[in-house]
Amino acid sequence: MSADAAVTGADRDTARPPCYHCGESFAAANAVAHTEPVDCGGCPRCTGMPACYTCRNMYCPCEEHQF
Ligand SMILES: [Zn+2]
Ligand SMILES: [Zn+2]
Ligand SMILES: [Zn+2]
Repeated sequence: MSADAAVTGADRDTARPPCYHCGESFAAANAVAHTEPVDCGGCPRCTGMPACYTCRNMYCPCEEHQF
């Protein structure tokens, strides 16, 4: 099958190390979601974690870090 349309320079992203929190490699455009701390407050486990982090505290009160 032809995948010419799907190739959009993804090779450049492979040089970037995967995210420490979610394990995904990310493009520079998405770097904020993976590196910028989010002060969601209310939860000692995920406060200050980037947006991509998923809190495993089932009582986590913040919406930013839930699934
Ligand atoms: Zn991430
Ligand atoms: Zn949070
Ligand atoms: Zn939390």
